[in-house]
Amino acid sequence: MNNLDPEVARDPQHLIVYGGRGKAARNWTEYGRIVQELRRLGDEETLLVQSGKPVGVFPTHSMAPRVLIANALIVPHWATDEVFWDLEARGLTMFGQMTAGSWIYIGTQGILQGSYETLASLSRLEFHTPTLAGRWMLSAGLGEMGGAQPLAMTMLEGVALVVDVDPAAIQRRRRTEYIDRVADSLDEALELVHAAVCERRALSVGLVANAADVYPEVVRRHERPDIVSDQTAAHDLMIGYIPNGLSITEAAEARRRDPTAYLARVHASLGEEARAILALQKLGSVAFEYGNTFRARALEAGVLEAFDIPGYVPKYIRPLFAVGSGPFRWVALSGEPEDIHQIDRMLEREFTDRTDLLRWIRLAREKVRFQGLPARICYMAYGERERFGHLVNAMVRDGELRAPIAIGRDHHDTGSVASPYRETEAMRDGSDAIADWPILNALLNVASGASWVSVHHGGGVGIGNSIHAGLVVVADGSSDADLRIGRALNNDPGIGVARHLDAGYAESAGVARRGRFRIPG
Ligand code: NAD
Repeated sequence: MNNLDPEVARDPQHLIVYGGRGKAARNWTEYGRIVQELRRLGDEETLLVQSGKPVGVFPTHSMAPRVLIANALIVPHWATDEVFWDLEARGLTMFGQMTAGSWIYIGTQGILQGSYETLASLSRLEFHTPTLAGRWMLSAGLGEMGGAQPLAMTMLEGVALVVDVDPAAIQRRRRTEYIDRVADSLDEALELVHAAVCERRALSVGLVANAADVYPEVVRRHERPDIVSDQTAAHDLMIGYIPNGLSITEAAEARRRDPTAYLARVHASLGEEARAILALQKLGSVAFEYGNTFRARALEAGVLEAFDIPGYVPKYIRPLFAVGSGPFRWVALSGEPEDIHQIDRMLEREFTDRTDLLRWIRLAREKVRFQGLPARICYMAYGERERFGHLVNAMVRDGELRAPIAIGRDHHDTGSVASPYRETEAMRDGSDAIADWPILNALLNVASGASWVSVHHGGGVGIGNSIHAGLVVVADGSSDADLRIGRALNNDPGIGVARHLDAGYAESAGVARRGRFRIPG
């Protein structure tokens, strides 16, 4: 229900939560049946959800997960867009993205923290500075995920210019103060950007325009952003990338009239944007793909050097994944912001050595507006997550919090995803496409007694390109919850450490040695 809260979801009427067509349930009838079963589910029963549709309730035991979810899985030979979306249109499956169909999406704060973490790492590695003061970024896409870019940039004291063809997307970000200014033209936008860069003042500017027009124009004007990226929903070309020359409504009509001609137009536009990014990269801009399959789509469009643009994971995130660190989140089921603030204060008392984490918590408290149920996210490593879980469970037990807390994470995490264009791009041992790990991760989380566990296909990078798993553990203050936390929040990041150690990452060895698990000798 929280995933489909109008404050949280992109298009709740159509059950679309984020990321192109990432849904929470197959249709409203199946949504109703899921809710009905959850309401009457016993403590020794498990509900099975097959791509957004409840298909059975089975007798299990009290420590078993209450819900098991499989979304969009398809036999590899048939795992193409054509086959998948045909099956979807026939009502047989559902695209669950990562946290949409696994019911732990928390609005743009989730991606905000990821974008912040990525840009902070980029700043350290590329510019050798802790912040991005005096630097500017050009990007596109202000949707559910992309909408986080401008705020992440200003939280790091930099300047962002982000274009989106959809005026509603920009207005939404303006309302939630993720964007500071909306410019009427590229001229005005660049003027605002240059003034802010000059004064080393943080600023984000939104512009209603098509990236395929703006990026080449930026090149023609000899502008050179310090950073260039894109976060349109390019993984789903049919709906996620609007070709230039068309408004959103015109694009919908063109798509309906002649899908093949429409797709050709999309490819041509995306190709123009990709060539402009490569030109900026040659001029010295730091370019990266932010996990939306942009490079693969550009290659399809005939841009042969598309993969000269690096992916963000190998460069900026892998060092964190290798030590079992990744995006971790918690949601106050009371609906009370104060519960999250209490946990913020607990972190400040208990995690004093994690100055980077505490900087984020302080900024998040100042800048993040809750959407739907109040929630918080931060990167936490192996060991920290379990400790955090027990502390929160004790707070629930002692009445310091008003209701239980749902603790979960993105599927985009250390040991839970195989995605060769993103999370597992350029693994040291070449194991990018090995999907045993996310399946082992889900099985392990079931064995550990997480509250609900999910396995999905195609999240983030589209059909055929990824397999990934998720979990949520509910801290309800009980001693059973401590057992679940002790197992699931140890084992879940633990398998991430094991996966990276297996792939040859030396930094995983120390964590594994100290870990509460064994690597066979
Ligand atoms: P979304 O569908 O909510 O939003 C996409 C936005 O792009 C829309 O507002 C649309 O109007 C705009 N757009 C489309 N074509 C455009 C064009 N040519 N020029 C300018 N704007 C254009 O998608 P989202 O949830 O924001 O996700 C964006 C992408 O990021 C997806 O591919 C998603 O899979 C990927 N993603 C990345 C991460 C990560 O960690 N890096 C995580 C999740 C998803």
